[in-house]
Amino acid sequence: MLSKRLLGTVYVVQSEVEMIMIKDRLIKTCLAVIPDEQSHYAISPEIAMTSSFYSKSYEAYVAASKDEFNNYVYTRGSNPTTHKLEVLLAELEGAQRCKVFASGMGAISATLQSYVMNGSHIVVVNSIYSTAMKFIKSLEKFGVSHTVVMSVDTQEIVSAIQDNTDVIYLESPSSQKFEIVDLKAIADIAKSRQITTMIDNTWATPMFQRPLESGIDLILHSCSKYIGGHSDIVAGAVLGTTEGVGKVEQNGYLMMGSTCSPMNSFLAIRGIRTLPIRMEKHNSNVKAVIDALKDDPRIEKIYHPYIQQAERSEKYLDGYGSLLAITFTDKDTTKLQTFINTLETFLIGVSWGGYESMVLPGYKFDNLETMKARGLDITHTRLFIGLLEAQMTITDLKQALSIAYD
Ligand SMILES: *Cc1c(COP(=O)(O)O)cnc(C)c1O
Repeated sequence: MLSKRLLGTVYVVQSEVEMIMIKDRLIKTCLAVIPDEQSHYAISPEIAMTSSFYSKSYEAYVAASKDEFNNYVYTRGSNPTTHKLEVLLAELEGAQRCKVFASGMGAISATLQSYVMNGSHIVVVNSIYSTAMKFIKSLEKFGVSHTVVMSVDTQEIVSAIQDNTDVIYLESPSSQKFEIVDLKAIADIAKSRQITTMIDNTWATPMFQRPLESGIDLILHSCSKYIGGHSDIVAGAVLGTTEGVGKVEQNGYLMMGSTCSPMNSFLAIRGIRTLPIRMEKHNSNVKAVIDALKDDPRIEKIYHPYIQQAERSEKYLDGYGSLLAITFTDKDTTKLQTFINTLETFLIGVSWGGYESMVLPGYKFDNLETMKARGLDITHTRLFIGLLEAQMTITDLKQALSIAYD
């Protein structure tokens, strides 16, 4: 019954249920936003812009306040628009439950602190998002220690596990070098030792990687990136089993109060409706850009799963996110400055996942030692390939390379 229209990989089925095709799975994306009489058949979901919800009677209030998950009481606990987003994200990741937060860091910090206590140990795999790393370091003052394993080698990761390890925290592909961890191997070992595994899946999105299928326990997202998709919101999410996410809800959500605005939840739902189409374009754009740069003598190295770790890429990814890093053959930082300033279609700045291409140099004139300590070359530069036609992006990169390095 896939008849009404076919738009990229987004299907709208006759029954008014919109669906997204992931690999061979049809996902009912509009489970969450089926128009009905109550909403006057509005195609776009309503925004429940309210802090509180009233009850029709004393008894109804008492019942609702005892079960905030299934009743709307106060928006810091749950909100209908945010709940729609949670249902939608859970569908996409194949998770039982999702909780949406005011930011990716809101989700990461609440989740981590829900799973550790005084005396716990965290294994951090490779280079993770820098603020997440800072948060893990800040837990030391509560008696939570950590070990950072600067490798994606399974044996090295396993050898960092201690008797008091409660959490293995990873990003795959990792920040900075975009290396892939053998998720299934790590999940299996962690399970056998009652360790909770957490992955930040922001880079791949559920379009291209669904780590729950490999046995990872909890998935984290910054919805500020691809999920929002338009550089206009900050939001985050945690996904997993009802029990696994319930623990975060009880310990890290209600109490820490990183609540997503209903307006931002609405914008994230809007973003998800074009997620498959956008991800397809990011995937083809990033491959075209890498193909055009990989034999360029001015580029020393490209860090991206399209050209590294073929076996693991094949095993875990259904497509490629368009965030990558490059280093230059010439180490002169004046030339690097010229390159960055000469790009015309890339904006200089943090964050990514929207329409615009972004460039972010690692070198900040005084941080060479920190870069070395993180195993980064002085010319390490992050590129985000946006939605502009690949050929225009390539032309721009080549002109900046010529002006800076020839
Ligand atoms: C941006 C980002 C975060 C943090 O998310 P915020 O929404 O900015 O708090 C975490 N992980 C990764 C991989 C990110 O890119």
